[in-house]
Amino acid sequence: MGLMVWIDLILFIVLFALFVYVFASVTITNLHKVYLVFHFSMMLWPFCQFAIKTTDNPKIQLFYVKFAFIDATLLSIGWLLFTILLTGQLHILRKKISLLLFVPMIFIALVIIVNPSGMFVQPIHGGYMERIYGPIFWVIVTIATTYVVISLYIIYLALSSNKTARIKKQVSQVIRGVCVLTAFVLLDIFLNVVLSHSLPVVIPGLTSLGILLSAIFFVIAIHRDKIFDIVTIAHQDIIDTIGQGILVLDDNQTVVEINQSLLPHVNIHIGDRFDMTLILPPDELDGKFDVLLYTYRKQPLEKTEIELFYPNINRYITIHAAPILVSDIMVGRIITFQDMTEIHHLIDATNLQYESLQERNLELIRIQNELFQTNQKLKQMAVTDSLTGCYNRHYLTQQLEHEVIKNMKYQTPFTILIIDIDFFKSINDNYGHLVGDVVICNTVEIIKQTLRQTDILARYGGEEFIIYLPNTSQAHAKLLAERVKSAIEANKVRIDNVAHALSITISIGLLSLNNFTVKHVNNPKIHLNDMFETVDKALYQAKKEGRNRIVSIVK
Ligand code: GH3
Ligand code: MG
Ligand code: MG
Repeated sequence: MGLMVWIDLILFIVLFALFVYVFASVTITNLHKVYLVFHFSMMLWPFCQFAIKTTDNPKIQLFYVKFAFIDATLLSIGWLLFTILLTGQLHILRKKISLLLFVPMIFIALVIIVNPSGMFVQPIHGGYMERIYGPIFWVIVTIATTYVVISLYIIYLALSSNKTARIKKQVSQVIRGVCVLTAFVLLDIFLNVVLSHSLPVVIPGLTSLGILLSAIFFVIAIHRDKIFDIVTIAHQDIIDTIGQGILVLDDNQTVVEINQSLLPHVNIHIGDRFDMTLILPPDELDGKFDVLLYTYRKQPLEKTEIELFYPNINRYITIHAAPILVSDIMVGRIITFQDMTEIHHLIDATNLQYESLQERNLELIRIQNELFQTNQKLKQMAVTDSLTGCYNRHYLTQQLEHEVIKNMKYQTPFTILIIDIDFFKSINDNYGHLVGDVVICNTVEIIKQTLRQTDILARYGGEEFIIYLPNTSQAHAKLLAERVKSAIEANKVRIDNVAHALSITISIGLLSLNNFTVKHVNNPKIHLNDMFETVDKALYQAKKEGRNRIVSIVK
């Protein structure tokens, strides 16, 4: 056997070495597995070609010929499946109709095995080392070509659609492989089958060489471009699916990558020279862009970030530019664009809400103050006599209920005075009710002036008043009562439209409590009523004795 015989074996060995290399050098993904199966079936072709030449037995030779062609058919449909997988069009295979793809292949396999009346292949010189191909061979070639055409069509679809950069890259590798292989197969058929009569010798190994070259394309792609590498695939997928716009420049300011998020918004393409002023917002006045531009141009090793408003699209964009460093040498730049508009809207909405809450809060505080003041007024009104402004009877009894209990408990002497204006009816009768009111008010004023701060003056009814003198003995109380009486007597009430001033007098009943045989009062109300009755008796007595006087009782 000459060198020619060995060509197929050498090609087989190289393919086998590549197989082992791929298997050993990369992390195997599902795509790799599919590729390895495919690669393995590619290896079988040169192996069969070589094997044919190792024997003189025509039956064994025929077996290898058939085996090689069945393998070739498998290979052509393998290409198709591989293409479908690579272009991410697996959905095609999910349809039942796709099973029809396999029908021609099964048909071919059967026909090859049977080789009816030598319509596929016939021996020359009693062996299959050299052979004549029958019409079935051409059917096989047509069907295999159809598979290749379909796979080219799928590639065309993938390239013309907006698939990701990763898929496009993979596809362009496949297309090279398919083209090289197809070219060599066609050359093989042309030279060794069509021109077999005119050429003196069979040129061996053409298809095998095509297989090897296309396999080399793949192995280079797998190894150098890492087309099936999941981490690279994941990186590329992240870049293509992330919401941020990403622009990568080389050290010459040439665009080497634009991701899918950015592409529709800018008129920049891979291969363009990038100029920062391209992304200057229209009517930018506040000089922020200049800051970005300055750092970008003059301090390329610094990271810089700035938020700009683009009025033409009504969006806020944060632009971040950073150098790509390899061992402290800048090899390029990465510029990212993040849309901050939603965040701005959220912040605005939150601020608005905060402001309105703040306003409502202030309003609530104002209402609260008003309520507090109104409440204070109401409380005041509840305890005040409306005519004179001194305490009312209700307040007095309430206070005294407490005071009585306390005084009993601590054995503190105290005094109650009841005051009634003398002959008040005649004032009403002579000067009218209004003048009577003035006299009542005036009397209150005078009484107040003579009292101590702790004393409580209350209007008890009509022109009658009660004064509570806490911690006051009878002797002291008498002095105080005398002072009140004299002050009223000395006072002249001036009335409008009345020529002379009025003089009035009062009578006073006085009750001092300083005998504490009872320490505990069960019902202060009853006790209080008793006291009022007693002091009323004293007043009655003062009136009876001629008025303008004090009658005192001690208990
Ligand atoms: P006495 O010396 O016995 O006390 O004779 P008096 O005329 O003062 O008799 P009395 O105390 O019983 O009279 C009270 C009168 O005071 C009866 C009523 O008409 C009058 N009076 C009661 N309340 C008011 C008031 O708020 N304003 C005015 N102007 N008169 C009142
Ligand atoms: Mg009276
Ligand atoms: Mg009176």
